[in-house]
Amino acid sequence: MKHIVISVIAVLLSQASAQDAQQEAPAPWDQWATSNPSWVENTEPFRIIDNIYYVGTKGIGVFLITSNSGHILIDGGMPQNAGAVAGNIKTLGYDIKDVKALLNSHAHFDHSGGLKALKEMSGAVMIASEGDRSALEGGFYLGAEDNINYSAPPVSVDRIIKDGESVQIGEAALTANLTPGHTRGCTSWTMTAIENGKPYDVLFFCSATVAGNSLNPPQYEGIIEDYRETFKKTKDWRPDIFLANHPGFFKMTSKRAAQMNGDELAFVDRETFPAMIKRLEQAFEQSLTEALAIEATSE
Ligand SMILES: [Zn+2]
Repeated sequence: MKHIVISVIAVLLSQASAQDAQQEAPAPWDQWATSNPSWVENTEPFRIIDNIYYVGTKGIGVFLITSNSGHILIDGGMPQNAGAVAGNIKTLGYDIKDVKALLNSHAHFDHSGGLKALKEMSGAVMIASEGDRSALEGGFYLGAEDNINYSAPPVSVDRIIKDGESVQIGEAALTANLTPGHTRGCTSWTMTAIENGKPYDVLFFCSATVAGNSLNPPQYEGIIEDYRETFKKTKDWRPDIFLANHPGFFKMTSKRAAQMNGDELAFVDRETFPAMIKRLEQAFEQSLTEALAIEATSE
């Protein structure tokens, strides 16, 4: 009896020390910052056009759209980015507490990870598509729910937005365009910017890369059909200004340099988006062919 009691105590002690070790372990997203240092490297915030500002890091795009009645923030970046994003907003002369709506391009930790902290800092309403709700609220990567390496701090969704619906705060208005595939609820946002009295169609594109997703077996049910629908839907899009959640996609560095050199419309570019979407469609079809070939040879 005595040694049973002792072994029970030993088990309890070892569980307690395992919990301690777990608490001291680095966060799962720390490794991504190590392998992608630009994702957590801060960069100077700036105005892109009209009321649209870049408030992300060197490698991850986060956008602030301001109005006199409060602001809208698209994406939270990495979990480690929340403080830098709030700091960038302050540098521009705005207050994180005036952000009234938080939007998300898609529920992957590098774009949704900072939303929980930013929601707490701002008190804003979190708006997302139904397709990404479970991943945002569960803090997981859809189809890899148990993989802690792809986890993010869970954030509760206050309003579900459907394709074609808009979010309006004062004179700032954005429309949701569902472009699923990269995630089940991948959402591209569009708005009209006015500069010197002229309107410009602005696109904040979600993503359509295959990176991180399995096509066979499918990452989630319907993923292949979703990608194909998205390519069909977007291939004729010709935004005047194309923005995205990784600055490399829209050639931010060279455009920002041109802007600093006095080109007020440096971000007007109707070529980069259609060229990119064509490349991404080819890359998707290639990945699908390869994924299906692996199954054929293993049978
Ligand atoms: Zn992603």
